[in-house]
Amino acid sequence: MKIFRNFIAGSWSEPSSGEHFENVNPADTTDVIGRFPLSNAADVDKAVASAKRGFEVWRNTPAPARGDTLRRVGDLMASRKDEIADLMTREMGKPLQETRGDVQEGIDTAYYAATEGRRLFGHTVPSELRAKWAMSFRRPIGVCGLVTPFNFPMAIPTWKMFPALLCGNAVIFKPAEDVPHTGTVLVEILLEAGLPPEVIQLLHGRGEVVGAAIVEHPEIPVISFTGSTETGRVVGEVCGRMHKRLSLEMGGKNAQIVLDDADLDLALDGVLWGAFGTAGQRCTATSRLILQRGIHDNFLGMLVDKARGLRLGDGRKKGTDVGPLIHESSRQKVEAYVDIGQAAGADLLCGGRRPEERALANGFFFEPTIFARVEPGSRLEQEEIFGPVLSVIRVSTPDEAFAVNNDVKYGLSSSVYTRDVNVAYRALVELDNGITYINAPTIGAEAHLPFGGVKQTGNGHREGGWEVYEFYSETKVGYIDFSGSLQRAQIDNYAGSPT
Ligand code: NAD
Repeated sequence: MKIFRNFIAGSWSEPSSGEHFENVNPADTTDVIGRFPLSNAADVDKAVASAKRGFEVWRNTPAPARGDTLRRVGDLMASRKDEIADLMTREMGKPLQETRGDVQEGIDTAYYAATEGRRLFGHTVPSELRAKWAMSFRRPIGVCGLVTPFNFPMAIPTWKMFPALLCGNAVIFKPAEDVPHTGTVLVEILLEAGLPPEVIQLLHGRGEVVGAAIVEHPEIPVISFTGSTETGRVVGEVCGRMHKRLSLEMGGKNAQIVLDDADLDLALDGVLWGAFGTAGQRCTATSRLILQRGIHDNFLGMLVDKARGLRLGDGRKKGTDVGPLIHESSRQKVEAYVDIGQAAGADLLCGGRRPEERALANGFFFEPTIFARVEPGSRLEQEEIFGPVLSVIRVSTPDEAFAVNNDVKYGLSSSVYTRDVNVAYRALVELDNGITYINAPTIGAEAHLPFGGVKQTGNGHREGGWEVYEFYSETKVGYIDFSGSLQRAQIDNYAGSPT
């Protein structure tokens, strides 16, 4: 069996524990991908010492040249797209068309970062005083610790890593333990593209051990975390205590709203993709469907018919619509929510169980599941399940739909299907989410726009687009006084004072 390594201090190495964990294919647990290092705090210490050396080299590399390295990274990813998608599907399960999209997001993020190397704008503004210039510019911060989840094994690490690198930082990367192969390939590509080796460190292992050691390390001043709200809370507490710069991207409970005037066929395609794509394991997955009374029964009938026709299977096989869940524990969590929904009196219209086909017996499959008559405020309606479970809620008016959308602790994405332009614009303004789609599903973020959520989904930062470059750099202000005399700003020399 293949043994994989960490990448620390410029070389591929064994963990100091000497121990490893197995990574298996969730569609067929007899297929073992390899053994990966169980790293610990001692490995983090070594990685930090090396990353600090890497930082000194990289911060002094001009930003356009850093961008050129990332352009080569994008080229390499593009040339290996299908091969990488295949290994990603093997280790996390979603169908190939989705893992190809995941790699494409990484490629787009690389090319965006490459061009940002020639921007990284600061401001030059007029000074209050004569013969003086005032400007701001961006400086790298240091060593950034990146901790990422399993569901977008390529896109999410690149959203963090490429901007962090472009800004001139060094990176310590801890991929989720379910997708270590993808993380390894990403680091191989960075090195092949010419990134100085000590600028990137890869540490595999358990979140509570090596993830926590990264978060707690005093010489890692920047932490970017994507994962569950529960883990994010722990990370946030540590970073708050240690005064670290922290970006948190966490859970969601996203709703698609379909109003009486909507194009129902379009809305149907949207909810099938939003709810059951990636087996519902997306932070932006549609886990609630809010239907207006006039179309409720008809739309629900159309939806259940289609959902029953979705084909479960190995994501690497042609014709598969929905892959497995990532773990047995995830499947058990989904089953627990099916029980919770039934106990609360919701109507189970389809799914709600493991498939019976023998061909699927070795994987963590679960049938696409739809509950109707779900009460706003119930656990099924409020809590993130992270599986193929859709809760349908009936409302009478757009106002009621908006109120139901907003009445959860999360705030990542939302979607409204309507032909009424006024309602569409009201939705943009009134829905409490970081992203609202009109006539498109709750998923579908583009690499060049800011991505993130409000309330307990995030802590105010965004990934993607231009905003993320602010997170990975510090604003520095410079004043240049060429008057040849002491000018005291804000004291007695203000040129705008009446004489
Ligand atoms: P998770 O919280 O279990 O793990 C995420 C990462 O944190 C993993 O690398 C894990 O090893 C690490 N980790 C675990 N405990 C840790 C600790 N104590 N200290 C430091 N690191 C630790 O999440 P997951 O199951 O991999 O992903 C699913 C969750 O991620 C869902 O809640 C989903 O909504 C969320 N998610 C959010 C976004 C977003 O952008 N908002 C995107 C994708 C996924």
